[in-house]
Formats: sequence, C-alpha cells, structure tokens
Amino acid sequence: MGKHWIGGDAPILVQSMTNTDTADVESTVAQVKALARAGSEVVRVTVNNDEAAAAVPKIRERLDAQGIDVPLVGDFHFNGHKLLKAHPACAEALAKLRINPGNVGRGSKRDPQFAEMIETACRFGKPVRIGVNWGSLDQDLLTRMMDENSARPDPVPAVDVMREAIVVSALSSAARAVELGLPADRIVISAKVSGVQDLIAVYRNLAGRCEYPLHVGLTEAGMGSKGIVASTAGIGVLLQEGIGDTIRVSLTPEPGGDRTQEVIVAQEILQTMGLRAFTPMVIACPGCGRTTSTFFQELAQKIQGHIRHRMPEWRKHHVGVEDMTVAVMGCVVNGPGESKHANIGISLPGTGETPVAPVYEDGEKTVTLKGERIAEDFQELVERYVERTYARVAS
Ligand code: SF4
Repeated sequence: MGKHWIGGDAPILVQSMTNTDTADVESTVAQVKALARAGSEVVRVTVNNDEAAAAVPKIRERLDAQGIDVPLVGDFHFNGHKLLKAHPACAEALAKLRINPGNVGRGSKRDPQFAEMIETACRFGKPVRIGVNWGSLDQDLLTRMMDENSARPDPVPAVDVMREAIVVSALSSAARAVELGLPADRIVISAKVSGVQDLIAVYRNLAGRCEYPLHVGLTEAGMGSKGIVASTAGIGVLLQEGIGDTIRVSLTPEPGGDRTQEVIVAQEILQTMGLRAFTPMVIACPGCGRTTSTFFQELAQKIQGHIRHRMPEWRKHHVGVEDMTVAVMGCVVNGPGESKHANIGISLPGTGETPVAPVYEDGEKTVTLKGERIAEDFQELVERYVERTYARVAS
C-alpha cells in the first residue's frame, strides 16, 4: 500500500475519525458507514484497550459484508505495542497504524515500545502514520531543544523551537522506523498543531525536509464556523503550495451534531480549490436589496439538498457528474451571466422584476419558468440535464 494509495500521484484523500467507542461494534460500524457514504476515503478509529482491539476485526468484517471497503486506520497510544501483540487480527484488519511518537511510552520504555509497534507493522506489511501532535509532543526532546536554544548566544523565540521540535520528532521517528526495517514508502507523516500559522510553518518545514507523504490538518480546529474557517485557512494555504496528500478537518461536532460534516467540509476545501471534484457545486449569489424574497435562498438550499441526496445514485450511473455546476441567482443583474457560465442556472425574479425565471443550459437560454412550481420544475430540469449530459455507465 503506502505510496500507492497515499502520496505521489494519488489524489489528495479525505480522512475522518470516528467518535464512537470502538468496542461498540454496532455504533462504530454505523458511523464508519456514514462517514464513508459521505465521502471519507480513510477512516481512523481509536484502539485504546483490549475490547477495542478485539472489536476491530469484527468491524472490518461487518463493513466488508455491507460492501464498505473504506480503509480503517488504528490510532494507538501508550499501550499500542501490547494491544497489537495480543490482537494480531486487529493488526491484520487495519490498513494502517497511526503511532504518536510522543505517546508511545515514557523514558526508557519509549524506544522499545515504538520499536515493537514498528516491528508489528513490518510483520503485517502495514503502512504507518507517524502522527506528532503538539499537545503530546515528546517532552524530553522539547526540553533538550529549549535548553540548547537558551545556551546559544542568539536564542531564537520559543515558538520557533517548539515548531522545530515537532518537525524533529516526526523526522527522527520516521528515520528510526526505517532503521527498524519499515520501508520508507510505507510511512506517512503528520504534525498537527491547533494554530493556523504554526500549521503552515511546520508543514512548510516538513515538506522541505522530507519526501514522505503528509497528512495535513489542524488538531482541535474547534466548533462550527471557527473550526471550518481555521481549517480552510491552514489547509488551503498548504494545498496551494502543493503540500498535503491526505487531509482531515477536525471539527468538534455540536452536541447531537452530524459527524459527517467534517467530511463535507474537507471535500469542499478540495473542490472549491479545484483540486478534486466530488459533488456538483451550487453557485448561489449572496442576495442583496434587489431581492427581498427568501425564495431564491430556499431554492438554493433545496437544490443543494437534492444534489447531495441524488449523488450516490448519480455517481454510480453518470460519468463526470461531480464536475457539474448549478447556479441559483437572486435577480437578473448577475443572474444570467453566472447562469451562462454554469452547466445549468436559474435567475429568480428580483423585487419589481417580471415574475419569471429564465433558465440557461450550457450557456443558452432554454426555458423560462413561472408560477408556483418553479422549484420543482427546476429540479426536474437538473435531473434531465444530468441524464442527458453525463454518459450512463453500463451496469
Ligand atoms: S444577483 Fe441580484 S440579488 Fe443576487 S446579489 Fe447580485 S444583484 Fe443581488
């Protein structure tokens, strides 16, 4: 595996992580399934105790039985070496192991426990993500580097030492894994921090110093729009520089909120940047004083919902449908222009405009909708456009 599915010429993958108790097979299967259906291409599960390790092969089996082949990554910390030894079926069922070098063991236990985990990865032919996290950065390393810095005649700011320590922890752990026999092309690195500027600085540094594929994301991005904006700002800058092979948007769900939101945001980052296409994009104007009606907002939302709902089917049957753009505009000022650029677009009547809605398909005005059923009629036109434009896959 390694470079074949992550890094190199492979597309930038969307990852996510479950927040169920891994030992609870049923809820974990349900959540992995939901994340995979939403578009997660790799799903990480925590493996924190014997019950969780024993559950992993069952989770894999249940997913396979339902045709869900999303790779599962096991997240291991202090007891990972013991769990992998006691549960070889867990190691076998996982597509990759995530090891946090700051959390593999304290003091003299660290090196042998790290080695044990790497040896397991080698034995089972599994790739490893060396996943450094600044919240659990190797404290011995950080203290040593801070001491060395303060002994210098021209010490650099502490934040620079901290950023360098993250990079050194990741790279030295990867080098150690290679010494222990793990092929370099089975290593992925991540170095997660919670500040956008730290993220950009750390990953630029890492990318300049190694060839390993990089998994990019903020840790603890936060809730709601703050988490989305911070992740987009940090990941977006790096992706633009060609840095990043897999991404995760670590959103804190609202209580009772949907875990799949992080997958949709990650896809939207990649799609809006033109790096990948997942789902047809709805381009909607923000609205202004020219349209006092909320009708166009409702239509944009309806169309977006319809597309998401139809996409699993469309994806199976119509090649290239994910590249489609649909414009929903509030009036005729920018409406027809934007609609002409989209595959299919509608301009709703603004305040004081004739109550008709011109529709453009492939740059040409094809029909003018009016009356009570504009939304339904437009949805129908989108369906017909997909049917006609994107070749049917023979099933
Ligand atoms: S398209 Fe019309 S309603 Fe929408 S923002 Fe522009 S001027 Fe305002």
